[in-house]
Amino acid sequence: LGPTVCVGEILVEIVATTVGNGFLEAQPLVGPFASGAPAIFISQCGRLGGQAAMVGAVGVDDFGRVNTDRLKRDGVDISAISIDPDYPTGSAFVRYRKDGSRDFVYNIATSAAARFGWSGMVADLIDRTGHLHVMGSALSVPSARAVIDKAVDIVKARGGTLSVDPNLRKELKLDEDTERRFAKLVAAADLLLPSGEELERAAGVEGEAEAIQRLFEMGVKEIVLKRGAVGATYFAHQGDRIDAPAFAVQEVDPTGAGDCFGGAYLTCRRLGMSPQQALTYASAAGARNVTVLGPMEGAGTRGELDAFIASTERRP
Ligand code: ADP
Repeated sequence: LGPTVCVGEILVEIVATTVGNGFLEAQPLVGPFASGAPAIFISQCGRLGGQAAMVGAVGVDDFGRVNTDRLKRDGVDISAISIDPDYPTGSAFVRYRKDGSRDFVYNIATSAAARFGWSGMVADLIDRTGHLHVMGSALSVPSARAVIDKAVDIVKARGGTLSVDPNLRKELKLDEDTERRFAKLVAAADLLLPSGEELERAAGVEGEAEAIQRLFEMGVKEIVLKRGAVGATYFAHQGDRIDAPAFAVQEVDPTGAGDCFGGAYLTCRRLGMSPQQALTYASAAGARNVTVLGPMEGAGTRGELDAFIASTERRP
């Protein structure tokens, strides 16, 4: 089959444990946690026992080790993660507001996360990749974008598959070139994993049903729409639809839910499970991850997710 590979930003995240007033103030912090949406996704793939590998970069620092040690422990092949001698590991500082929204301070542009390129190790990995997963957020990082373009062409030309999580925050304005690349990526996706209004944005039309129809016309084969605490819905181009209610948990930290959900869904499908079964594991992975602080601290192994499913009610 070949491994599932994710290309993109690797970061550490530091989180404020109290709710702030929106402006930087002295607050108790926890972290550093391994993070970056692509890293969270691939960590969940590795934990579930799927073959998984990551392309990205960290600096020569302890923040980098937090990530590479963690991914290795999760069973992820880290041979194509480069160690940048000149730039530090990327970082994100996160604070929650009273209304549940988040403020981020990122250091990506001047970090190793924005400096990696095509290399011999990357070429070796992409030559044996069975499935490529791309996060839309990586398209705003020029170096990741170049690697993604090349990797998508190679993997698709060899008959491999592609999944795309638009991962576009509302406030993120894409320039024309990025918008065009994003549309091309969506059209090449076998599986699309949008969340909320990203569905309509990816389709370029309004209305859920219209967007789903449009995306299938564009060539997407399977869509799983993430709806946060409400659950998720699977749509297939033959017209099938499955609604998966969310598990009833107490949300502590929503960061990473969608990435864990996507990593679990994709891995279960690649391991041969039905959409229904994959949705159950994915919903469990997303829900379990929101119960703990840290972007991927709740990502689960198969055994942990089985135990979670057996002991947790679904929301009505
Ligand atoms: P994203 O992080 O990409 O916006 P979501 O927030 O929709 O994604 O989360 C992905 C999935 O994780 C949801 O479809 C749901 O199954 C699960 N999930 C997320 N938040 C919760 C929650 N508060 N309670 C239970 N399940 C949740």
